[in-house]
Amino acid sequence: MEKLLKTHFGFDRFRPLQRKVIDDVLEGRDTLAVMMTGGGKSLCYQLPALIFEGLTLVVSPLISLMKDQVDALRANGINAEFINSSVSNSLISEIMRSAVEGEIKILYVAPERLAVSSFQDFLRAVNLSLIAIDEAHCISEWGHDFRPDYRNLKRLRRNFPYVPIISLTATATAQVRKDIIKQLSLQRPSISISSFDRDNLSIFVRRKQNSFGKLLKLLQDHKNEAAIIYCFSRAETEKMAVNLKKEGFNAIAYHGGMSAGARRKNQDLFIKDKVNIICATIAFGMGIDKPDVRLVVHYTFPKSIEGYYQEIGRAGRDGLKSECVLFYSLGDKHKYEYFNNEIEDAVERRNAGLKIQNMIDFCEGNVCRRKTVLTYFGENYAKDNCGNCDVCLCERSTFDATEIAQKILSCVIRTGSRFGAKYISDVLKGRKLKRIIELGHSNLSVFGLVKDYSDDELRQIIQQLVSANYLIKTEGQYAQISVSNLGNRFLKKKESFFLLKPKEEEVEVKPLVTRKGDLEYDLDLFELLRVERRKIADSKSVPPFIIFGDVSLRAMAYYYPTSLEEFAKITGVGKQKLARFGEVFVGIVKGFVDETGVLPIEVPEK
Ligand code: ADP
Ligand code: MG
Ligand code: ZN
Repeated sequence: MEKLLKTHFGFDRFRPLQRKVIDDVLEGRDTLAVMMTGGGKSLCYQLPALIFEGLTLVVSPLISLMKDQVDALRANGINAEFINSSVSNSLISEIMRSAVEGEIKILYVAPERLAVSSFQDFLRAVNLSLIAIDEAHCISEWGHDFRPDYRNLKRLRRNFPYVPIISLTATATAQVRKDIIKQLSLQRPSISISSFDRDNLSIFVRRKQNSFGKLLKLLQDHKNEAAIIYCFSRAETEKMAVNLKKEGFNAIAYHGGMSAGARRKNQDLFIKDKVNIICATIAFGMGIDKPDVRLVVHYTFPKSIEGYYQEIGRAGRDGLKSECVLFYSLGDKHKYEYFNNEIEDAVERRNAGLKIQNMIDFCEGNVCRRKTVLTYFGENYAKDNCGNCDVCLCERSTFDATEIAQKILSCVIRTGSRFGAKYISDVLKGRKLKRIIELGHSNLSVFGLVKDYSDDELRQIIQQLVSANYLIKTEGQYAQISVSNLGNRFLKKKESFFLLKPKEEEVEVKPLVTRKGDLEYDLDLFELLRVERRKIADSKSVPPFIIFGDVSLRAMAYYYPTSLEEFAKITGVGKQKLARFGEVFVGIVKGFVDETGVLPIEVPEK
């Protein structure tokens, strides 16, 4: 199996769970594979497709992705085609004819095609070995992306009860999972769920102060690399692109208000590496599988953790280290609260409010970002320090918080356990606000008791007391804080208690220049190879990553393979790519080695 993986796809080893899913598929079982974006789901049906005798039918909702997927397969010498509304009728007949004759291994179709009766006839005429349903959550109304056309798939199962189905999704909720199995009538399916941790992504939350300056610095660190900057509004994406251009960056905008043609054009410029920065609303991303995005910035924090994780998931799909930076400010928080209050439907308003609150807790929390997100998705993250988020990377000293913690807990109790952090801190700071005076809280002994902490520091300490379970916070926008049993015990016993020092000035966390686990490759050679890759891609009108991914280029710029035998061992180089591109790339490496006198390193066998 490893040999097939190398010959056809050029990869040396399977990603977690790929092997298991593939084994189940080859046994003829129905399967459900739940894997994080970038986890490598496609391979789970593409490799079996090569082993099975007949045709593998792949149903996918994303027309724009089909062409890239098929181009990628063809570049590896695999006969693949796609049928959707962009393909002419005569070409469709042609494709169906060659499929019936067994000349096609993998056929991608849009779900609406299944409702066409001539297509059903075609399916009966062809030797169908496997049915793959990509983005399978689209069949469920519980999912975030229900597509009525996916209901056509029920018929597919009815007509082909003995053809195994593999369904794939990145949506983890148990409800959606169950629904997929039910809707597709999967028989005793084998279910494989991979961890949602993406350990190649570094996750940073930074204060939105001088944020444009910070952004410029980030973009300089990622010069020439693909970056997505998610903005709050359509107008902001345009403004951002203009401002970045003024600073000499190659940036464009993307949002739902643009015409379909303009959107396609800008998306294409980004995918084909003609422009490396795209300033977008969340409308951007669904239809792209660009594997080498190295930076995802949220210039304003997103509306939910689900959305956030999906958006940062677009970074580093190829497994190389990539950076995710979110800018957080109280101003943005208030902006959201304002917009949220405009939602008319009460239930909807409440749900949206809860999701935003979860996001705010994530940003304000002092717990490992990775752990916070994974816990939110119901996954148990065992490590306390992930070593790759702003919380874990930033060494912060602790201080004796016994006294301030006592003051905060007492204030919560005295004011009746029904206010939020803001109110508590106003009372402690002795603010003569109307509400405080009316409620008589300005007469309490805790009123004005705190002089030596700023509002911001108090907010951070309260958040830490919540994380440490001394305080309990109700959910929602107007969260009420009360003291837990643990907090009460602490007040009685008066034991000393340490907390992390609140951050006054943000400590800058430097991205590691040579990131752990990455090859220290030759940047000059990489650049030469990159230019060649783009030249070839342009001549074939495909995105550069279809020729070779960054992982392959970096390996070439590390080992300097000067013969075809050495080149063949580079990851991502399969039989077909060796034959088609070997000479050219080896030629460039040779030229470079002759000129600079560097010594090639033998490429290890795996
Ligand atoms: P998903 O559909 O789960 O989001 P993809 O199937 O698009 O993920 O794969 C993401 C990236 O990982 C692609 O660039 C793919 O070529 C790469 N990939 C998949 N499997 C492997 C592997 N075993 N070794 C190296 N790269 C892989
Ligand atoms: Mg996919
Ligand atoms: Zn962490």
